[in-house]
Amino acid sequence: MNARAGTVYLTGAGPGDPELLTRRALHLLQQADVVLHDDLVAEEIVAESRAGAKRVNVGKRCGTKKITQQEIHALMIEHARAGRIVVRLKSGDPLIFGRAGEEIRALTEAGVPFVVIPGVTAAFAAAAASGFSMTDRGGASRLVLESGHHAEERTRVTDDPHHATTLVRYMPGSDYRRTQEGLLAAGWLPETPVLLVSCAGQRRQRIHRTTIALLHATAPLPAPAILLIGRSIAMAPLRDDIPEIAHGQS
Ligand code: SAH
Repeated sequence: MNARAGTVYLTGAGPGDPELLTRRALHLLQQADVVLHDDLVAEEIVAESRAGAKRVNVGKRCGTKKITQQEIHALMIEHARAGRIVVRLKSGDPLIFGRAGEEIRALTEAGVPFVVIPGVTAAFAAAAASGFSMTDRGGASRLVLESGHHAEERTRVTDDPHHATTLVRYMPGSDYRRTQEGLLAAGWLPETPVLLVSCAGQRRQRIHRTTIALLHATAPLPAPAILLIGRSIAMAPLRDDIPEIAHGQS
C-alpha cells in the first residue's frame, strides 16, 4: 500500500508479537513520517517504523495523563496538514476500546482524510493462545466484547437463558471479587469457566484458568490482562504447557 501524504492511518498494532502485525501496517510504518503510538504498543513494533520517522508516545495510562485526547487530535491534524504521512498506532484493533471514535470525529471535522487498518484484538490473541473456540455450535452462539468500566450494568444474561455467550472483558481491573459479584448478580452460573490472560501474544504471556465461583480467590495477573468468561472455555485444553507463541520464548 502506497501511503498518501496528508493522511492519517489509524492502524492496529496487534497484541504485541510483531509476527501478528498485518503486512499493511508494516508497510505503512515503513513509509511513516510521524508515528503517534499508545503506551501499550510493543517497542519492537514501534521500532519497525522508518528510521527517519518521528516517533511520539502519546500514551495515557492508569490516570497518569501525559497528553490529553484533545492534544492527540491536534497533533494528528497538524502533522497531516503539513503534508506528512501520519500513522496513529494503537494496540490490538484500533476500533476496539481505543477512543478511535473521537479521533475519527476530530479528523472528519478538520477535513483530514483517514484510513483504518485493522489489527488482531486482545480477545482474539487471548483465545488463540488458550486454544478454544469462542463460538461453538454446541455451546456459544454469541460473543460479547465489553469494557470493565461500569461493566456491572451490562453483563446481564437474563436474555440469554441458555448461557450461550462468551464474554470478553477488556480492562478488567484487579478487584475480581467485585467482578464475581457482578457476574453472579447478572445471572451467570458459578461453575462457568473463566480464563485470565495476561500479555496475550507477548513473551510474558500468562494464562490462568478458574471459575466464577473461585474468582474472588484468584490473584490478579499483571496488566495488560483480559478476562474470558463462558461455557465455551471448558473446551480449552486443561494443561500448563500452553502452546508457544509464534516468535518463541527464550
Ligand atoms: N485496542 C485494543 C484494546 C485497548 S483497551 C485491542 O483491540 O486489543 C486496553 C485493554 O485491552 C487492556 O486493559 C487489556 O484488558 C486489553 N489488552 C490489550 N492488549 C492486551 C494483551 N496483549 N493481553 C491481554 N490483554 C490486553
